[in-house]
Amino acid sequence: MSAHGPGGRTAPEADPANPMLVIISGPSGVGKDTIIEALQKRGHRPDYHYVVTCTTRARRASEIDGVSYNFVTPTEFAALRDAGDLLEANEVHGNWYGTPRDGVRAALAGGQHAILKIDVQGARVVKACVPEALLIFVVPPSVETLVEHLKARRTESAEQLEIRQRNAAIELERKDDYDFVVENQEGRVDATAARIEEIIAQEERRGSRRAVTV
Ligand code: 5GP
Repeated sequence: MSAHGPGGRTAPEADPANPMLVIISGPSGVGKDTIIEALQKRGHRPDYHYVVTCTTRARRASEIDGVSYNFVTPTEFAALRDAGDLLEANEVHGNWYGTPRDGVRAALAGGQHAILKIDVQGARVVKACVPEALLIFVVPPSVETLVEHLKARRTESAEQLEIRQRNAAIELERKDDYDFVVENQEGRVDATAARIEEIIAQEERRGSRRAVTV
């Protein structure tokens, strides 16, 4: 696994009163959900809060409403957005996705890091509102692996697969917008999760990313 970003330096112990907004992005098929699951299984970070976002996308069979996403209709989504309840709202692969402002606020107010798994457009909007946000981009070992994963998971229609493959190239071009780039090597999801945890701990110790307002 490789990563780049500001180098570490000796710093004081982690400060739980130093909550950060952490964005994890990466193209469809790179394994973001599996990485989040691996992070959750590591289990010794009660100071991480995984924010459940909203989407108008149809629920997949394996997904649970309110856990995987808050699944909403386009009308409900528009109402949330118009009421200012979403920190960002973006169309991704033909569906709407948005980050509930309250979920992020509550996490930060409770001294937890708000972890957001959102796309490159959302990351850009959030970074503009919260410049201290920590941006982590997950890349595949190769574009071929990405396509194999997308096909193997069989969750998308042929049309969606095509859209997601096309968008992957666009998303990968945005990786320089991020503070850290982490490669998710084949069969090494635990190592990827460990690296992400390490980056978060390092940035927490630096103390310069405390998210103040959202
Ligand atoms: P999927 O449909 O595969 O669950 O997610 C498609 C993309 O939307 C992924 O890149 C995912 O990270 C992103 N995403 C999920 N929630 C949000 C959100 O609230 N806002 C934005 N901008 N992207 C999101």
